[in-house]
Amino acid sequence: MTDNTKINLLDFDLASLENWFIQIGDKPFRARQVLKWIYHHGVTEFDAMTNLGKSLRTKLSDLAFIRYPEIVTAQLSSDGTRKWMLKLDEKNSVETVFIPETDRGTLCISSQVGCPLDCKFCSTAQQGFNRNLKTSEIIGQVLLANRELGAYTDGKRKVSNIVFMGMGEPLLNYDNIIKTINLLTNDLGLGLARRKVTVSTSGIVPEIDRLKNDTNVSLAISLHASNNELRDHIVPINRSYPMKELLAACKRYTESRDDEPITIEYVMLKGVNDSINDAKQLVKCLKGLPSKVNLIPFNTFPDTQFQCSDIDTINRFRDILIQADIFTITRKTRGDDIDAACGQLVGKVLAKSARHNRSQKENVHVN
Ligand code: SAH
Repeated sequence: MTDNTKINLLDFDLASLENWFIQIGDKPFRARQVLKWIYHHGVTEFDAMTNLGKSLRTKLSDLAFIRYPEIVTAQLSSDGTRKWMLKLDEKNSVETVFIPETDRGTLCISSQVGCPLDCKFCSTAQQGFNRNLKTSEIIGQVLLANRELGAYTDGKRKVSNIVFMGMGEPLLNYDNIIKTINLLTNDLGLGLARRKVTVSTSGIVPEIDRLKNDTNVSLAISLHASNNELRDHIVPINRSYPMKELLAACKRYTESRDDEPITIEYVMLKGVNDSINDAKQLVKCLKGLPSKVNLIPFNTFPDTQFQCSDIDTINRFRDILIQADIFTITRKTRGDDIDAACGQLVGKVLAKSARHNRSQKENVHVN
C-alpha cells in the first residue's frame, strides 16, 4: 500500500479503532493495546509495540501509520508561551499554543484551517476558510506538544488542560471534535478529566445541545456583546442563532452539568462594547445562568478597525459585574510578542474564501 491509501491511526477513537481491527480480521482488544502505545508512550512505530506479534506489526505497517503534523516553525515567548506552526498538507498550516502556568499547562488547539465565521475583531476570520481538520490533525497537536515538551522522555504529562480556542469554530467540525474529546478523556488516551477540556464556541446552538448529550466537557461562549443588535454586527453568526436562543442553550447546558458554570468570553473593544450600560446589560443577560466572565483585552492585528479598551474602562466594566456577584477575571494576555494571543492565530490558509487581500500577504511568510 502507498502512503496515500494507508490510514493514520490517530483518526480513530477507541470505538472506531475496535471496528477497524474487526474489519481487518483481528481482535478488537488490539485497539486498547495500540492506543496505550500511542497515547501513554508517544510511540509512532509499530515495531516498538512489543506486546503485538511480529506478523500483526507487519500487517499494521502495511495498512496504516501513526503520524503527527509537521512543525514548520516553533516560537518561544519571553513569558514561556510556545507557539508551533504545523503543516497539515502542502497547502495548509495551523497554529497551536502552549501556555504554561504554575499549576497547569494549557494547550490551545485549532479545529479548522481558517474559520468560516466572520467575527469582525478576529484575525483568523480575516483569512477565510479552507477545511475542517481531521481527528488526527487535532489530537496530533496534543501529542506533538507533549513530545516537544519532553513528556515521553521524562514520563510527565505536560499538557494538563485543553482549550479549543485556536483557529476555527469547533462546533462546525463536530464529529472530529467528539472523537478528539473521546481520545482526550479516555483512560487509554490522555485520561484528562472532562472539566479540563473546554470547547469554546461563537454559539452554534443546535451543536451546543448535541455536545451536552454526547459529552459534558466545559463550555465557553464567545458572547462579546450584551445586546442582539451589536452582536449581529460583531459576531455575525448571531443572525442565525440570536442571543436569546444562545443563552437558553447555555442554560440547558449548565442544567445538564449540575449548574457547573460556563465561561462567557467578552473581548473589550474600545467604544464598541465597553460602556457602563453594556456592563449593566450583560449583568441582565446572565441573570439566572451559572457563569463566570472572562474579559479579554482586544489583541490587535494589522488593518483592524478596533482598539483595545483602556485599562480603567476594563476595570470599571469588571467591577460592575463583580458587584452583581458575577465571578469575573480579566484574561492575561500571553505570548503577545510571538502573536500567540487570542484571535491572533493565522497559520497558512489556502483560502477558498479569503475575505481580504491581507490573507494573501500572510500566506507568504511560511512554506
Ligand atoms: N471560534 C471559537 C473558538 C475561538 S476561541 C469561538 O469563537 O469561541 C478564541 C477566543 O478569542 C474567542 O472568544 C474569540 O472571540 C476571541 N478573539 C478573537 N479575536 C480576538 C482578538 N483580536 N482579541 C481578543 N480576543 C479575540
